Amino acid sequence: MPGKAFIQVILPLRLEWEPCYALPEGIRAKVGSRVRVRFAGQEYVGAVSAVDVTPEVDESRILPVLGIAEGLPEVRPEEIRLWKAVSEYYLCSVGEVYKAAYPALKIGQEEVEARGRERLETRLERLKEKLGKARKEETRERYQAEIEAVQARLQGRPAAGTAGTITLSPAQQKAADSIRKAFAAGKTALLHGVTGSGKTEIYLQFAREALARGKSVLYLVPEIALSRQLEDRIAAFIPDVQVFHSGESATRRRQVATHVRENDRYMVLGTRSALFLPHHGLGLVIVDEEHDTSYKQDAPAPRYHGRDTAIMLALIQGASILLGSATPSLESLYNADTGRFVKVDLKERFHAGEEAEIRIIDTVAERRKRGMVGSLSRKLIAEIQTSLDAGGQVLVLRARRSYAPSVQCTECGHIPKCSHCHVPLSLHKQPDRLVCHYCGHTEPWTGVCPVCGGSLQPLGAGTQKVEEELQALFPKARIARLDSDTPDTREAGIIREFAAGEIDILVGTQIITKGFDFDGLDLVAVLQADSLVGQQDFRADERAFQLLEQFRGRSGRRGQPGRLVIQTREPEHPVYARLEGGSDDNLLAERKLFGYPPYTRLVHVILKDSNEKRLDFLSRELRNTLLSAFADTDTPPAVVGPYAPNVDRIAGETIRQIRVTFPRNKALTALKRTLSTALSAFGKERRYAAHLTVDVDPV
Ligand code: ADP
Ligand code: ZN
Repeated sequence: MPGKAFIQVILPLRLEWEPCYALPEGIRAKVGSRVRVRFAGQEYVGAVSAVDVTPEVDESRILPVLGIAEGLPEVRPEEIRLWKAVSEYYLCSVGEVYKAAYPALKIGQEEVEARGRERLETRLERLKEKLGKARKEETRERYQAEIEAVQARLQGRPAAGTAGTITLSPAQQKAADSIRKAFAAGKTALLHGVTGSGKTEIYLQFAREALARGKSVLYLVPEIALSRQLEDRIAAFIPDVQVFHSGESATRRRQVATHVRENDRYMVLGTRSALFLPHHGLGLVIVDEEHDTSYKQDAPAPRYHGRDTAIMLALIQGASILLGSATPSLESLYNADTGRFVKVDLKERFHAGEEAEIRIIDTVAERRKRGMVGSLSRKLIAEIQTSLDAGGQVLVLRARRSYAPSVQCTECGHIPKCSHCHVPLSLHKQPDRLVCHYCGHTEPWTGVCPVCGGSLQPLGAGTQKVEEELQALFPKARIARLDSDTPDTREAGIIREFAAGEIDILVGTQIITKGFDFDGLDLVAVLQADSLVGQQDFRADERAFQLLEQFRGRSGRRGQPGRLVIQTREPEHPVYARLEGGSDDNLLAERKLFGYPPYTRLVHVILKDSNEKRLDFLSRELRNTLLSAFADTDTPPAVVGPYAPNVDRIAGETIRQIRVTFPRNKALTALKRTLSTALSAFGKERRYAAHLTVDVDPV
């Protein structure tokens, strides 16, 4: 009797093993086939990871495959390799990565074609507007090329012939040569180019070269907004570029996956989820703004970092990898120091122009001198007036949305908190209400203290209040606000109006610091910069620096120098010195001294439970379990905790954290595996797995 055939299947679940199934007569499957199977009473579509396997359990207990999942694409072996690499590094199951890569699509009858057209038409209008305003001949040529590319796409003909040419400046050329050398030596290239140096042109140059060699290209950006801005620019050079991110419809995303699957070479522009497309023949992976923490996925698993996963993908595909940033991450600078990466500097702006001037205003001193009017100093008010008088535009960053981040009773000092989270409620206006920024819980605003009946007063100023203050100070100015309270439908409009010079002052949260390339902007201001720096988190300073430097890059991009004004209570903070030309060495030295990443590797084990007693008990037990698991290892990691994180209760669940710090050495992978094994054993024994999550390289 011929032996039965058995296969192993990856299921879209948090499952540490790949179950075995029997292939019934007449069903053929190979590695990558998608099959329908039953598991724990439910039906799933899995991906075959191995064939002709010898079952470890009694054959009679093995379930049969129900059938091939018709109409679903097969998975490439390289995709499975990437899932395995991600699962091993981020201590999650292969199935969780599979689930992220192949989400069960619910496809409605969307009118994709129509929506696509509509988008192209809006883009065409926008470009024509820009062309109308552009002065410089080269800028005009560029917009013209972009317009032709969009028109070609609207008419459904390939626009290859119209794609513009890229002529690199001598400085760009030199950087490109160094990058080419790094690639030839099989190294990752890190392009450290100031804002406006024309990194994008260099990326495009390399992308075109790869395509010309018959290779595919993946161009990653940290956020959808950046992708939207780049789409036009890239399409002018590479008309066939495919855009992939979670803002696209499911149907559109499926079309892009099909395009990738069916073409010998392709170019995709996308956010981190584009890493899991069925890539093949990749010659180049570009990671733009590689320092950006938006590359890290918080939840659900896999909690992966787009940049680091891009490096894994490039390795599997044999592709070159190009990282770029005006403010590289310490992680990448470290890798450049140790010789894993080659750092290439580009210090010159393309349109010669000076860096924004920086002015730091000490709000404590100003308050003493009566130099403050609400949230703004008289000095900043004068700067804004100067810009407005000259017809310039102003961006004002305040890192907290709301009218007031919290409210307090003037009688008893009570600060109302969310009933589900350990955070103060923020006051929002229009309509007036108290809102929890963690779980969304809202309460009506009465202004009356629930404890003593006294009166509640706003504490501090969020973006809404700042907008109100600015409107009072500059009654004639056109002022708008952009933060996550801005409706999605309004967001694009505000950006367009600001770009068209129809808004004078734009107030907003971090959203306004990224990528927006506005011609008329000459002043950017940061209020309460203290909320960005000097928190307990050791990474806060690095992030604050990156944010401020990026924000500074927003102003004075074309020719004239801009100004960056920072209001702070702590003007001596080292972040500002670094902004004014200090080096990165200090930050790296500090990280080394305290044993922080990149000199070590961090893993957070997070426990959540609505039952606080049980949580505290089990998190202490878990700590002991981990300590004994590592007891016999040569270089045991440091285990700190359990401790309550900054916000230790969200949506009714209390949170505890255990921080495991691994030495960065050869034993790392084995030690991480020890951690992972200990965790899952603990989860099973205590029936606590659902309360545990692991975050590798948390940001
Ligand atoms: P970065 O991404 O480094 O901040 P950009 O790529 O946005 O800089 O470039 C800044 C500006 O300079 C853009 O308007 C871009 O079109 C222009 N530019 C850069 N390089 C070139 C080039 N080689 N030829 C023409 N324009 C260029
Ligand atoms: Zn809440």
